[in-house]
Amino acid sequence: MARQQANESGVGEPSEQWREYQGAPTGTDLECEGWRQEAALRLLNNNLDPEVAERPEELVVYGGTGRAARSWDAYDAILEELRTLGDEETLLVQSGKPVGRFRTHERAPRVLIANSNLVGKWDDWEHFHELEAKGLIMYGQMTAGSWAYIGTQGIIQGTYETLAELARQEYEGSLEGRIVVTGGLGGMGGAQPLAVTMNEGVCIAADVDAARIDRRIETGYCQETADDVDDAIERAREAAEAGEPYSVGVHVNAADMLEAMLERDFVPDVLTDQTSAHDELEGYYPSGYAVEEADELRESDPDRYREESLDTMERHVDAILELQERGAVAFEYGNNIRGQVQEHRGMDEAFDYPGFVPAYVRPLFCRGKGPFRWLALSGDPEDIHRTDEAVKELFPEKDALHRWIDLAQEQVRFQGLPARVCWLGYQASDDEEGLTERARFALEINDLVAEGEIAAPIVVTRDHLDAGSVASPHRETEAMQDGSDAIADWPILNALLNCAAGADVVSVHDGGGVGIGNALHANNHVVLDGSDLAAEKARRVFTTDPGTGVIRHADAGYEAAIEEARESNVDVPMDER
Ligand code: NAD
Repeated sequence: MARQQANESGVGEPSEQWREYQGAPTGTDLECEGWRQEAALRLLNNNLDPEVAERPEELVVYGGTGRAARSWDAYDAILEELRTLGDEETLLVQSGKPVGRFRTHERAPRVLIANSNLVGKWDDWEHFHELEAKGLIMYGQMTAGSWAYIGTQGIIQGTYETLAELARQEYEGSLEGRIVVTGGLGGMGGAQPLAVTMNEGVCIAADVDAARIDRRIETGYCQETADDVDDAIERAREAAEAGEPYSVGVHVNAADMLEAMLERDFVPDVLTDQTSAHDELEGYYPSGYAVEEADELRESDPDRYREESLDTMERHVDAILELQERGAVAFEYGNNIRGQVQEHRGMDEAFDYPGFVPAYVRPLFCRGKGPFRWLALSGDPEDIHRTDEAVKELFPEKDALHRWIDLAQEQVRFQGLPARVCWLGYQASDDEEGLTERARFALEINDLVAEGEIAAPIVVTRDHLDAGSVASPHRETEAMQDGSDAIADWPILNALLNCAAGADVVSVHDGGGVGIGNALHANNHVVLDGSDLAAEKARRVFTTDPGTGVIRHADAGYEAAIEEARESNVDVPMDER
């Protein structure tokens, strides 16, 4: 009997298995035939750990409606397939549903995933929502549908690095005494207050959902909650004057908060936003409603919801532009709020403030650097502490990396499987082997697993937001210097190359952080189980993957990428022409 498709809007009743798991299984006993399949099963369940996911009972991991599986029935079926999947087989997952299984070979990926992709002409929210209502497609966001989400800890280093770069460019390296104002304390946005205080600054963050603020306070990402905007400003000013790191959440619509700040002539030093503006229906909240009232409106009158949501975004962007005019350093933080008001409200001036990638991250991408991350399948935090030591020993000259690891150990709590994020890139070693930074690290970890210094395999993966894996004209590829922003060949090549190099899970998604039709992006996982096969895969994948970042930016003419390619012997066939 064909499995029952999730009905119109719902995903069905939460699976009994999920209730029993309550997160990833840990330890060294396997449910599957090998560690590669086991790792996929554990990471899927880690994504849906109530400590990790935002709304796991609806299969929503983060980022509006970013899901890990299409329905609970599909989730059960994926687990069933993974448990019996052989070492020479590959499972195909289409928008969160297992659709096929083929005999391949040992070096091939065990799981291939494609989420949310639509043919160009149909590639918009309207068609997506129609197909989603029929149970035919799922929003995979970035790491939700590719089973690589690790909670707010996953984005924290990226947010920290972005703000550190901003501090270097604007304030001689520190946010001390500076007030950063933002919106959105969800799965990703929740990292903002802690990233600001790690950079010694003060943060005011608005969220319409009081429960999200409470969650960030409980998990140590935000310090306090304010009574209202005035109270938040007062507390922030006091802390900034004293030069104390401080963060405060305020229960208010972000657009209303910024207008209140304008009325009071309060101009923050830095201004950004991470509400889920990429999705005007299921992510962003219109002004004038409590969360429950807005949720009811979405059900009863989605068209009106959409219009009011876009009206609020228009006011929100207007306020950002006005505060920028009055002196705030403003940047968009990857939620496509500028694109939304440009497309639906004709506001071309929205792009008068920059996106965070061209402003702060591209120089890193040129060197193949991006948010490399790893998880301990044992579930034992000691395994991650051992990897912390290893990364510091391996790169003794990298002061910023050492500072990051120390800060993370002190201030970032694990959620679900213990994990760590660390921006590493290409930068080949100058010995004969010429191994990349990422490969050197992965091989070291594989050795530690083989020697039994780490209790169980480590899975290495990354965000889709990486040097060579995304085409996203409003974010990762905004304002490319050769105008190639919208060319989506690159993430496809990246995914194909990840397969050729033997990654264990490879995925390609549409939409991600900026919404359907606005980005294509790819991801990979490699399981380091201490075997020679794992070493072989790690050596290849962690060369080709950051390598696509280098060639993509070299092709666009970035000097830093051309230099990196020459220094690290990355072949760029037309470099000399
Ligand atoms: P999320 O859906 O988990 O959280 C969004 C939060 O915004 C929720 O807490 C919601 O209550 C709040 N919110 C919505 N509208 C609001 C409004 N008008 N005023 C105040 N609060 C409002 O999403 P997330 O995972 O935190 O991601 C946030 C956004 O950032 C998304 O658009 C996502 O795609 C994007 N994103 C950015 C990056 C990056 O690197 N910068 C990475 C991933 C995602």
